[in-house]
Amino acid sequence: MINKNKGPLIKVKNVHVTYNEGQSNEVRSLIDSNIKLYPQEYVIIFGPSGCGKSTLLYTIAGLQKPSKGKVHIDGEDIYALSKKAKVEFHRRKIGLIFQAFYLIPSLNVLDNVCLPKTAGGAQMKKRREEAQILLNRFGIANQSTKMPSELSGGQKQRVSIARSLSNNPDIILADEPVGNLDSISKHNVMKILDDLNKRDRKMVILVTHDASHLRFGDRILYMRDGKIVKEEIVKNKLSPDEQMPEEVSTQEKIAPDLKMLMRAFQDLSLSQIGVLLAPFKAQQLFSHIMLSKTYEQIDRTSKGLEDLLLSKMSYDEFVDKLDTSIEKDGAGFDKRNAEKFARQAMDLIATKQKIDPKHSEASAEVILDYLVKKFELKMNADQEKRAKILLSLRVKNKISVTETQKGFDLPTREGGAGFDKRTANKIAREVEMIMLLNYG
Ligand code: ADP
Ligand code: MG
Repeated sequence: MINKNKGPLIKVKNVHVTYNEGQSNEVRSLIDSNIKLYPQEYVIIFGPSGCGKSTLLYTIAGLQKPSKGKVHIDGEDIYALSKKAKVEFHRRKIGLIFQAFYLIPSLNVLDNVCLPKTAGGAQMKKRREEAQILLNRFGIANQSTKMPSELSGGQKQRVSIARSLSNNPDIILADEPVGNLDSISKHNVMKILDDLNKRDRKMVILVTHDASHLRFGDRILYMRDGKIVKEEIVKNKLSPDEQMPEEVSTQEKIAPDLKMLMRAFQDLSLSQIGVLLAPFKAQQLFSHIMLSKTYEQIDRTSKGLEDLLLSKMSYDEFVDKLDTSIEKDGAGFDKRNAEKFARQAMDLIATKQKIDPKHSEASAEVILDYLVKKFELKMNADQEKRAKILLSLRVKNKISVTETQKGFDLPTREGGAGFDKRTANKIAREVEMIMLLNYG
């Protein structure tokens, strides 16, 4: 996601990097680079070998001083910082991942992950617990006491990603992180980067010369001969799972217990089992407890709702989608529940379409009608008058959700609408839903 609200997080301005300047072996690695990078975006730096991708990345990382020009991160001119401030800045803001992993061979996996925290003086025990959580997340919990030499390439890269995250930086810089990996490990690492960007909302800058990675980002910077020659916004961003390599999708090697689980949880992919099982379990557990629906049902239903909201899908098509089995890419409801659910959604959507902050009183009446029907509210004239005033104020954004809820809860003699607390809560939540749908 590109979030331009708060302005760029990183600004590269007229940056040149020249090696061996003025000598016969002078190399102009970076020529007059200008870029603005925004919080939470996933940027791909793409170009042939030797075009200056790593130089650009290390310049952003604070590791390669420009011969000319400036790099600002979060408003700081990073090359103007004192040495100590730069170390601190680096520790807090930036996580680095390299093609060659750069794990310390004499330290075990857990200590490698803890390493960047040492300078922060965090308590040893807490540090180790947090490192272990990162290893769990990436499916390498059991490797924590092994030495790097005992790990596969894919495992090493996951350790190095865990290390890059250990101070919870906002920016992850990755220089050809899958260059040395087999295709399944490549897929796992790409999936982790995707997850860090989407779920943890980290800015990810990925250097690659592999064209199959291009659509994983929000934006592509094309480089050639030391220059950024083209910039492209990715219109249909792909998740790595939508581009599964052959080896990953063949199901032969799957153990029977897993096969059984995969039958129950259709969205459980092989890369999740290897790498991101914890978030998958958490999602499933949440939907199981909170909503008595499976994650697949929720996922398919939300996708349907999105189409319904965008008018890409009719009411009947939506009911159909809900009523179709999970195996056939539906949401697996039965007919009656599908209709009940769809009607609720349509009622909300129909209500939000009639809301217009410029006509707050008419809007308040529409919302009140909806609430009366939905919650079978019984009101006297006084309550009705108060309710309309509150709703009209909310529509005009004069009062917040809390004030709406309090207003509905307060007795009429104190100026409220005189409902009980539970009803007032339900009403306020419903109103916020309508306001959200109407927003934008
Ligand atoms: P990429 O990452 O796109 O392969 P690099 O940024 O590593 O490209 O390199 C860009 C150019 O700068 C290349 O010609 C490379 O040989 C040269 N280069 C990189 N580092 C140095 C260095 N320390 N000294 C001299 N030349 C260098
Ligand atoms: Mg390089």
